[in-house]
This record gives sequence, C-alpha cells and structure tokens, in this order.
Amino acid sequence: MYKIASLPGDGIGVEIIPEAIKALKAIGERFGHEFSFTEALVGGAAYDAVGHPLPAETLELCRNSDAVLLGAIGGPKWDELPVHLRPEVGALLPLRKELGLYANLRPCILFPGLIKASTLKEEVISGVDLLVIRELTGGLYFGEKKREPLPGGGEKATDILSYSTFEIERIVRFAYRAARRRRNILCSVDKANVLESSRLWRETVTELAREYPDVETTHMYVDNCSMQLIRNPRQFDVIVTENMFGDILTDEASMLTGSIGMLPSASIGGTVALFEPAHGSAPDIAGLNKANPLATILSAAMMLRYSFDLEQEARVIEQAIHQILDQGYRTPDLMEEGMTMLGTSAMGDLVAAAIEDQKENK
Ligand code: NAD
Repeated sequence: MYKIASLPGDGIGVEIIPEAIKALKAIGERFGHEFSFTEALVGGAAYDAVGHPLPAETLELCRNSDAVLLGAIGGPKWDELPVHLRPEVGALLPLRKELGLYANLRPCILFPGLIKASTLKEEVISGVDLLVIRELTGGLYFGEKKREPLPGGGEKATDILSYSTFEIERIVRFAYRAARRRRNILCSVDKANVLESSRLWRETVTELAREYPDVETTHMYVDNCSMQLIRNPRQFDVIVTENMFGDILTDEASMLTGSIGMLPSASIGGTVALFEPAHGSAPDIAGLNKANPLATILSAAMMLRYSFDLEQEARVIEQAIHQILDQGYRTPDLMEEGMTMLGTSAMGDLVAAAIEDQKENK
C-alpha cells in the first residue's frame, strides 16, 4: 500500500489532479499495487476554508505519507493578502522547506508527436532530452525580505540572495550523480560576473568537478543559458542552477516540449518527495476543462520512479502518453491542424484507458 497525499490546490489544480489519480489507479489495477489517496487543502482554497494557506493538518498529512501529489496554487483572488498568507509564500515555500525538498528535477523531453506543437523550428528541438536540477530551498525566494519608508517619500524594498557552501555542494553532488546516469555532461548556470553568491557557486562547482572527472563540467552565465536553450538545446544534458534562475529557465525550456502543460517536476531531498507540474494554477483557463493534465500525469510517473522505485510502471504511463499523442489527441494548448481536440478529463480518461489496454502486453 502506497500512501499518497493529494493536494489539488487552486485554479486548474482541481482539474488536473483527478486525471493523475486516474492514471495511478489504472497502474494499480494493471500491476496489482494499492495506492491510497488522502486529499487535503492547500493554497488559496485552504486560506478561504481555514484562514491559512498551509494548515497544520495538511503538513502533518504530507509528513505521514509516502509521497505528495500537488496540483498548483495561487491566483488573483489571493494576490492582495499580506505576503505571509499568500499561497506561494505562505504554502509552497514552507512546504518545500518543512519537507527538506532541496532538489527540484525538471526533465524536459520532447515527445516526437509534439514536434510541430512547439513555436520553435523542428530542426532545433528534435531530440531534446535535458534535465534541469534547480536548488529549491535557498536563494532569493527564502532570503530576508523587507520594505522601509524613505525620508524623501517612496519606499525601499530588499530581498536577500544568499547561498552557503553546504547548500551548493548538496545540490551539485545530486546533479553529478544524475549526470552519471545520463550522458555525463553537467552545465552549471550562474551569474558569477555580477553576483557574489554566484562566485561562491562557481568556485564550489569547480572544486567538486575534481571528484567527478568522468563528467564533463561547463559553466554558463544565466543570460547566455537562456539564449542557448533556444539556439541549440541539444547541447545540454544536465543543467544545475540556483532557485530563481531554475524557476525562470524551466518555464523557457518548457516551450521546447510544446507547452508548459508538458513539464513535470519532482522535488526531492527529505524523507517524503513531492511531485507537481512545473506550471502554475492558470487562472485564465481554470474551470473550463481546457487545462493539459499531462504534466501532472508525468509527475505521477516520476513519483512511481523516484519514490516507489517502480520503473516499469513509470514507463507504462510515459508510453501511454506517447501513444495518445501519436494518435493525434491534443488539449487546446497543443492543438494543431488535423488533430483531435480533447478537454482535461477526456485526455485523462484516454491515458488511463491506454494504460489498461497494454495489460495483455504486460
Ligand atoms: P501559469 O503557469 O499558471 O500560467 C502561464 C500560462 O500558461 C497561462 O496562459 C496558462 O493558461 C498556461 N498554462 C499553464 N498550465 C497549463 C496547462 N496545464 N495547460 C494549458 N495551459 C497552461 O503561470 P502564471 O499565470 O504566471 O501564474 C498563475 C498563478 O499560479 C499565480 O498565482 C502564480 O503565483 C501561481 N504559480 C503557482 C505555481 C505552483 O503552484 N507551483 C507555479 C507557478 C505559478
């Protein structure tokens, strides 16, 4: 029995999580595993119900589960709350911190069926298969934040960006181990020409590189990396970077896969890992059955792989998605001429059915 905490959250979160649960249940049926799901409130929905975006019971449930499946949180309704009660700052960041989730893995793989869905040229994105490893519990998002009135009027706002050697070593070693399981190429991304925290980052990576002579290590400034991702994404195997750079670069990288609705993520480091799509709550399409659930279903596949060591089962989910895309089914974000458009729940149904259909080939 695998105990999964299910936190749909806000916006499209409540539409995509049920689709990932369908896929996991289909896997359970097919392979004889029992997955139990306990749902809890998080984000704006939790604030509305109990006055805090991360209720103590939700955190407790996560701690006592084998893995956490999260939809997305936030939205305009909660944007004016005091900062500590806003869903992103009041729930997402403490959840990551409390569970010790310092490594965020975002695999960016182009499904061949989607090569025309991207806004980029086919010859540029064909064969893209890279992994971004983003540091998740340090840097600017967790540093001290303050506002001070200025004597002459107006205000001064400050966010502190700091990293310690320990935090850098921990994530970079993680990235080296990941590179060894892939093509042995690691690109460390920083802004060492301007930022002191980046200079420590680069020195630490340079030092650690000696321990991994079998891995080719390169350094790249973040501004150059954002350009190289579009110019020649196939040059990358594993990218390791700090929190905010990783946040921004992975939204950009998602377009290599056709849509942000295709980018899953796993947050790892503590005893319980958390799996969520890389995108947000998409308030502009929430409640319209238009959201692409595949990033969330792919995140469920990552859960099988990383939390439960069920590699074959993870591949069955990925294969089912391959199959459906090859058959021409698309959510609106991926729509092209000649394809069949489906809503969120119909896409989830098809994935679950494709998982079940492969039963005979077990
Ligand atoms: P977003 O990722 O929610 O949306 C950006 C664009 O991508 C929108 O046009 C949206 O419709 C589209 N999109 C996103 N996911 C999609 C999907 N699965 N299928 C189809 N289209 C999809 O980013 P945003 O608009 O900057 O943020 C909206 C809210 O989400 C904000 O409150 C933000 O703070 C929050 N947010 C939460 C998380 C999280 O929960 N981890 C991450 C990012 C943003």
